[in-house]
Amino acid sequence: MFFVFSISVLDADNIPRSKLHRYTPVVFFAFTIITVISPFTGFMFYVDNGFHTGPMYYLLYACSAAYAWFALLAVHLHRKELTPHKIISIVAIQVILLVGNYVRFLFPNWLVMNTFSLMAIIVVFLSFLNPDLYMSDHGYVYNLPAFKALVAECVRRRRPCRILGFVLQNYNEHREIFGGAQMDEALTSINKYLADTFPQMSSFYLRNGFFALVGQNLPDLEDIREKLRMRFSFPWKSGSNGELRMTVSFVEADTEILDCPADRLVNALFLSMDELGRVSEPDSTCSLTDSIEQITERLEIRRCLEHALDHDELEVFLQPIMDTATGKRIAAEALVRLRDGQGKIIRPDLFITLAEREGYITRLGEQVLAKVCRFIRDNDMDTLGVQWINVNLSPVQFMAQDIPERFAEVLREYGVRTEQIHLEITEQSMIDFSLLREQITGLHSSGFEFALDDYGSGYSNLTRVRQYPFTNIKIDMEVVRNYFQDRDPLLPSLVQAFKKMCLSITAEGIETEEMAEAMTEIGCDYLQGFYFSRPVPMPEFVAM
Ligand code: C2E
Ligand code: MG
Ligand code: MG
Repeated sequence: MFFVFSISVLDADNIPRSKLHRYTPVVFFAFTIITVISPFTGFMFYVDNGFHTGPMYYLLYACSAAYAWFALLAVHLHRKELTPHKIISIVAIQVILLVGNYVRFLFPNWLVMNTFSLMAIIVVFLSFLNPDLYMSDHGYVYNLPAFKALVAECVRRRRPCRILGFVLQNYNEHREIFGGAQMDEALTSINKYLADTFPQMSSFYLRNGFFALVGQNLPDLEDIREKLRMRFSFPWKSGSNGELRMTVSFVEADTEILDCPADRLVNALFLSMDELGRVSEPDSTCSLTDSIEQITERLEIRRCLEHALDHDELEVFLQPIMDTATGKRIAAEALVRLRDGQGKIIRPDLFITLAEREGYITRLGEQVLAKVCRFIRDNDMDTLGVQWINVNLSPVQFMAQDIPERFAEVLREYGVRTEQIHLEITEQSMIDFSLLREQITGLHSSGFEFALDDYGSGYSNLTRVRQYPFTNIKIDMEVVRNYFQDRDPLLPSLVQAFKKMCLSITAEGIETEEMAEAMTEIGCDYLQGFYFSRPVPMPEFVAM
């Protein structure tokens, strides 16, 4: 029974469990038969004027020890998928049983095996069946680990279950405004309401204002939704006299219809709820199938990215930057490209954020820089009319303390001068934090020039711009486009202000001759955009 229990909590039964399952019962049945026929054969025991052990009696110890070892073997086989918590608990149970077994073997007259079994049961209880492990911190309902376990089980056993997720909109903003304590009390009231109102379902509070109701063979989720909608039109009590009013949005899922692994389903649910929580319209819905697709796509992009990084297969395209004074090319911007399995290009905005979030960006940035440096080494920059190349830098790259040294080393390796590389950082990434400023200053003092990318796309803060050693401001293409539509005099005066600060200006996203003229007129020094050229592969850039 301990063995069966241990195997069942492994939760990894799709893989080699089948083998363990096939062979382990053999031992059990063999011993059952030997024991049952013992009164006739005397193998295990026999009775005459009392109970006597038979010649095979000691094999019982071997059998019981074998099951403990089988369980340990199973843990070993699945160690990668198991949480440390599960590993420790199952190992502890088996070790207790093995010790008990051994003690009993050495001192057969002390009937202590039950004591050891009880100890193992206590471990089982504390580590797996203890309700605290699965209850929400806010009481009444279950928590996220419980939700994951339930969904995993439904998917594995192909047991249909329906999930109704709902999310408190703008949860984080509410939490900031009303404070943690009041919010927590409101959550407790919601939990209590769910537990009281829907006893036929399992209710969960997952995190960040995400809730879920799970049930099997539910008649109609619409009723439940209606009830929730009604209840949420009234405020929730929070604190001794506070009241909190919140709106909710819903996501529905059906494990049977959505034929996908449990963890992907849970992630997709979170992704949908994240999105729903941020839209301001209450009671909106969001398709889980879309989220699953998005997650599947993300996994695919990650695979391509890993492959490209390992095989140095990232491509770098170049887009010319024109000088308005001469009308000629003066520089270029390096833009990274990733290809999927079919050779189709994946957009940088899709994989750059992923690379930032999953820790690939430092390697990506270094490979791009190395390729740009190699290009500069292998080509005659004067003939190409390129005085420098702009390389985009993600703020996450600054987390590596030694970035100035590493960049300097790449440049040294290819014999490239720092003036030949300008680094672009986006306005959105200019969060106020000291490491960023320190690193930028470090790179600047070793000779790199800095450009502020996508100016006007975020919270433009002129004071902050002045605190950094920029030499160039790149006006975001959206701003350029807007100016072209309404000729708002703000942009020309902004350009003049920057010029007074001795900053040069680049206008991005120039798509037509008129745009180029208008931007030159208001004083931009450099222009970049499809009108001159799209970003092109390096050989094509040279040919052009
Ligand atoms: P960005 O640095 O602002 O790059 C300019 C983007 O505008 C490029 O998109 C370029 O193809 C596009 N563009 C240029 N001219 C025009 C035009 O006339 N019309 C329109 N509609 N678009 C134009 P891309 O290559 O898709 O890159 C997107 C963003 O990805 C870049 O924006 C940059 O922030 C990031 N990125 C690209 N390469 C790298 C890299 O190596 N490292 C890092 N950290 N980020 C990169
Ligand atoms: Mg850029
Ligand atoms: Mg830009």
